[in-house]
Amino acid sequence: LVISVANTFALKVEKYDGTLDVDLQAVDSSIYVDEMHITNVLFNLMDNAVKYRRPEVPLTLMVRTWNDNNGKLLIAVEDNGIGIKKEYLKKVFDRFFRVPTGNVHDVKGFGLGLAYVRKIIEDHKGTIRAELGPGNVGTKFIITLPLIKS
Ligand code: ATP
Ligand code: MG
Repeated sequence: LVISVANTFALKVEKYDGTLDVDLQAVDSSIYVDEMHITNVLFNLMDNAVKYRRPEVPLTLMVRTWNDNNGKLLIAVEDNGIGIKKEYLKKVFDRFFRVPTGNVHDVKGFGLGLAYVRKIIEDHKGTIRAELGPGNVGTKFIITLPLIKS
């Protein structure tokens, strides 16, 4: 799923001279998911990365998967965009919330994408959080999903 959603973004990222990297480190990704909804989740996160890019630098978008030691699958979507101030990192998942400066580049939106994302992830018994990107540049969204117990 990660690869197929990433593929749909490849051309868009190229348009902004950006790079899109997918790094699938998860050894165990045995989970049941609602394919359509999880596709939409990944789509929303990558769509935001493109929407909230910094026009003056080439976009870098990175999607990783890995496993922790607690039977979880983790998926991170990282960008080098305009970032989200610390005080808003939790609020962005609220319905209709948009960071006040989010419209600096006249980017339109309803503030619903991340509320939907959180709802779908929680319906899959997972969690999602937003963090500042590495070196406090950009944003990193981290999804945790429980693996099927064998
Ligand atoms: P839509 O409902 O069309 O998705 P939206 O993109 O404004 O509209 P969300 O996806 O819920 O809504 O995001 C909420 C807000 O969080 C955005 O308006 C933006 O301010 C901020 N945001 C989300 N993703 C990022 C990101 N990758 N980088 C910077 N800001 C972001
Ligand atoms: Mg959005």
